[in-house]
Amino acid sequence: MRIVSPISAGPSSQAKILDGKTVRDQIKSEIRPRVERLRSHAGRAPGLAVVLVGNDPASESYVRSKTLTAAELGIHSEQITRPAEITTEALLAIVQELNGREEIDAILVQLPLPAHIDTQRVLGAVLPEKDVDGFHPFNVGLLTMGRPGLKPCTPAGVIRMLKHYGIAMAGKHAVVAGRSDIVGKPMSLLLLQENATVTICHSKTPDLAAVCRTADILVAAIGRPALLNANHIRPGAVVVDVGVNRIDSRTEAERIFSPERLAVFDKNGSLLVGDVNPVDMARLASAYTPVPGGVGPLTIAMLMSNTIEAAERRTGVA
Ligand code: NAP
Repeated sequence: MRIVSPISAGPSSQAKILDGKTVRDQIKSEIRPRVERLRSHAGRAPGLAVVLVGNDPASESYVRSKTLTAAELGIHSEQITRPAEITTEALLAIVQELNGREEIDAILVQLPLPAHIDTQRVLGAVLPEKDVDGFHPFNVGLLTMGRPGLKPCTPAGVIRMLKHYGIAMAGKHAVVAGRSDIVGKPMSLLLLQENATVTICHSKTPDLAAVCRTADILVAAIGRPALLNANHIRPGAVVVDVGVNRIDSRTEAERIFSPERLAVFDKNGSLLVGDVNPVDMARLASAYTPVPGGVGPLTIAMLMSNTIEAAERRTGVA
C-alpha cells in the first residue's frame, strides 16, 4: 500500500501550466511541410471527409472548427451533412462511398449520432486505414497491442502534451478517471505504452478520491463539473483535465471559481469548467492543464496530424 501525502499539504510553490495552444501550434507547424511534401510527391493535398448528422449546435461548431483548421493547413476537407432522420443504412452507404474514393484519406463521423443509428456499425464500416478518429475495432486492437496505427485524437494529444513539457511517464503511477472508448480507455493504453503503471477508475469505483490521491499523473475524463477536488489530488501531482463542462448556474459557479473568474461568469452568464476544481488544481498540482486552453486545443490538431499520417501511408509518401 502506497503512503500518500496528506491532502491538507500547502500550495505547490509554482504550478506549471501545460498550455495546449503552444503545443497545438507546434503540431501545426510540423504538419505544414508534410502537406507540402505530399502535394509535390503525390500531386494532391491530403483529403478529410467529415460526416455530420443532424443539427446539434455543439457538433456543428466542432465540425466547423475542423474544416477551418484543415483549410488553414492546406488539407482538402469535405463536409457531408444529413438530417437527423437518416437511417443507419443510408449512413453506411455514405461511408462506403467515401471508403472508395482515392483522394479521401481520412473519414470522420461526428459523434454522437442520433439514438436510432447503430453507431458501432457505422464506425466499424469506416476503412481502418481511413479511420482518422482511431475508433474502428481494428485500430483499437492495434492500440491494445502497442502497434503503430491511427490513435484517438484527444488521448494522443495528452501524451503529446506531456512529452512536450518533459513530464516523465515511465515508472509513474497514472490514474485515469473515466473509461469511455473515446478518452478513458485509449488514454490508459497510451500511458501504459509509455511505461506508466496505470489504474483506471469509473462510476463504480468505491473510493475514487483515495485512488486518485495515489496518482503521480491524474487524468480526469468524466464529464462532471469540478467533481475532482483537493481530496483527489496528491500535492505535487501532474493533473490533466480532459473534461469540458458548461456552467450556467451562479450557485454552481460560486462553488467552483475564484472571485476573478466569477466576474467573468457574471459578464458572460456561463463558464467552461473541467472535471477538476480549478482552484484546488492550481494550488496542489506541480503542473496542470487549464480549462479552457489545455487539452481542448490539441484534439483538432491531432486530427490533422492523423489525417496527414493516413495520407502518407496511403500514398507511400513519408
Ligand atoms: P463519457 O463517455 O460520458 O464517459 C465518462 C466516464 O466517466 C465513464 O467511464 C463513467 O463511468 C465515468 N464517470 C462518470 N461519473 C463518474 C463518477 N462520479 N466517478 C467516477 N467515474 C465517473 O465521457 P467522455 O466522452 O469520455 O468525456 C469525458 C469528458 O471529456 C467530458 O467532459 C467531455 O466533454 C470531455 N472531452 C473533451 C475532449 C477535448 O477535446 N478536450 C474530447 C472528448 C471529451 P462508467 O463507465 O462507469 O459509466
